[in-house]
Amino acid sequence: MCKLFTAQCGSYQDDSLNELIDLYFESERDRLASASKILLKPNLLSATPPKRAVTTHPDFVRAVITSLKKFTNAQLILGDSPGANFGKYEKVLDVTGVGRAAEDADVKIVRVESYEPVQRDGFMYSSLADEVDVIINLPKIKTHSLTGLTLSVKNLFGLIPGTAKVGFHRKYPSDTELGAKIYQYFTLLGDKTMHIIDGIVAHEGDGPSRGNPVPLGIAAACSDAVGLDIAVTRMLGLKDSFCMTTAEALRMGYDPSWIEVPETNVPIVKIPLSRKMRVPVFMKKLVAEQVYVKPVVLNEPCIKCMLCKKSCPVDAISVVESYPFIDKNKCIECFCCHEVCESDAVGMQRSWLHRMMVRS
Ligand code: SF4
Ligand code: SF4
Repeated sequence: MCKLFTAQCGSYQDDSLNELIDLYFESERDRLASASKILLKPNLLSATPPKRAVTTHPDFVRAVITSLKKFTNAQLILGDSPGANFGKYEKVLDVTGVGRAAEDADVKIVRVESYEPVQRDGFMYSSLADEVDVIINLPKIKTHSLTGLTLSVKNLFGLIPGTAKVGFHRKYPSDTELGAKIYQYFTLLGDKTMHIIDGIVAHEGDGPSRGNPVPLGIAAACSDAVGLDIAVTRMLGLKDSFCMTTAEALRMGYDPSWIEVPETNVPIVKIPLSRKMRVPVFMKKLVAEQVYVKPVVLNEPCIKCMLCKKSCPVDAISVVESYPFIDKNKCIECFCCHEVCESDAVGMQRSWLHRMMVRS
């Protein structure tokens, strides 16, 4: 049984936030002291300013780093793969303010796509997760049109590189299937994760990015991601299974009886419109199939070094007329080829619906 830490914070400068993080890290002192490399994993979904509450607030990240340095001499790195926006990582880091927060504290920023993908139990994730001793997960409390809420378990989905995450949405368009897959993926990470959730200003309505900021004043931490997600869900006045990743954990036998939730006085959270309407799965599938980004080799700048071919984990790249050629049916959209190409010769082919939904 893990200990659950919660605090009511009026703002990101509130002393109670620093106290909560210190207390939590104190409870994990030995683990932090013995680690040599620690990854900070905020929510960096898109290039949106902190006031939109789509991403983890930079002052929240700052508070965590400041406290963490009191408990460990480990190398600290920060990274995420912003879903369909992964090609705009620098812009995401800049606009969200999280890049500055890391740089000011001498925390190295990494790209999830720079690490080779690992394939296990039908999932693919970045070997970055295997390279570090501890992952400090920093989710933002948000409603989510597909999974109900996006909390601790869901935030770790960002360790899947490139647009392979988007591929999951295509393959599993129903909320229960998607929640189940994300939970199964989370269990692969084992017990190296720790979780501190940012709900000081949360995101409600058509989340994860088209809703509105809502000041909840909640910060909470626990080393049990599912327990933390249940506690937060209850603080919001919602049923445990409203969060689809939790629904799967409960189905798999998770016992929530130990969770004691403090009384909170949070405003009613507005849920996404799509969760109030029953959209048939076949319609979700039709839409999901039209949202994709595929790598494409641009022959003109290509210098035929074949680094892309060597980096591909599924041998989707062959040589045709001396240029690399990508087999789109084999491609799993990890975008390692894009990452290693030094000639900007691996472009991104976006579907029309992707272009409409994700504006550059
Ligand atoms: S890595 Fe880039 S330049 Fe090298 S072969 Fe592949 S596409 Fe061409
Ligand atoms: S071609 Fe290979 S390396 Fe490139 S995105 Fe597809 S699977 Fe990844």
